[in-house]
Amino acid sequence: MIKLSGITPSGEAHLGNYLGAVRRWAREPGEGDLYFVSNLHAMTTPHEPDRLRKLTEHQLAILIASGVPAESMFVQSDLIQEHMALSWLLECTCTFGEARRMVQFKEKSDGNSSVRLGLLTYPVLMAADILLHGTTEVPVGNDQNQHVELARTLARRFNSTYGEVFVVPEAVLPTTGARVRDLANPAKKMSKSSSEPDSIVYVLDDPDVVRRKFRRAVTDGLGKVAYDPQEQPGVANLLEIMAACTDMTPVAVASGMTTYRELKESVADVVVKELAPVRERALDLLRSGSELREIRAAGADRARDRSGSRLNRALELAGVG
Ligand code: ATP
Ligand code: MG
Repeated sequence: MIKLSGITPSGEAHLGNYLGAVRRWAREPGEGDLYFVSNLHAMTTPHEPDRLRKLTEHQLAILIASGVPAESMFVQSDLIQEHMALSWLLECTCTFGEARRMVQFKEKSDGNSSVRLGLLTYPVLMAADILLHGTTEVPVGNDQNQHVELARTLARRFNSTYGEVFVVPEAVLPTTGARVRDLANPAKKMSKSSSEPDSIVYVLDDPDVVRRKFRRAVTDGLGKVAYDPQEQPGVANLLEIMAACTDMTPVAVASGMTTYRELKESVADVVVKELAPVRERALDLLRSGSELREIRAAGADRARDRSGSRLNRALELAGVG
């Protein structure tokens, strides 16, 4: 069984990425599971090269610092030839109609007069990511289900047209981690691509900045600390964050607390405590650079070794090997 999960450096990694994904990856790594920084996917909308390079390193450093096994991770662009070669084989396996039907493409291109072609084709690159590494399971939320379905279709079509080479992957529901919401707008999830950095707690934020952001978190006028996501979404979000950091339930966290100020101070305390070792280790890795480069190179070598024969066989079968 090989599970593949990625994080796209479309912005700095935040508390939601950490509690909802990265910390779980570190706590429950499965034998053979793979984690990658999907930096090629951060180019489908306008991007700045230097920022992308920096965010890619930040995310790799955060994965390592969080305890995700180093031997299970790689950076997508370190295997750019492999991913792009397979992506091309799959673009020539996919129809234009199939690509155009992707709901995310419709949503993200709607009303945009200058859409990058990569936004249309990135689900095919995602299929290449999945199939290249012999992935058997892809843990994805609902928004990505259609893309995994496309990967399955392309795997089956390639196998039946040219010969058996790809494993047909399954989409699986990710084990539920905490779902962290935006501190200013609890109707929205915390998101890397948000344009309001003050309501997002970033993993690499200075502790003082984390405290300030929690102090400004939106609550409500009810004036009681109770866990009621419907009536008190802002308070519920803070309770859920605190619960995730302390391995308690939100209801248990709420009991004994009376003021919003107390709640905000407490949640800031536990988040600072939770993130401190990750932040410090990640900043160390980024400062010195050499260890990060070594881990990155070793991860790329391993990923290339594991996937090379599959890619070569696919190229052979398609008549371009
Ligand atoms: P973007 O805004 O670019 O989509 P994102 O913040 O949604 O960025 P992703 O790269 O899409 O981050 O997701 C990386 C991982 O983090 C996924 O496993 C996703 O489910 C998880 N994740 C993202 N946001 C949250 C959140 N607010 N709470 C919990 N988990 C989250
Ligand atoms: Mg997302």
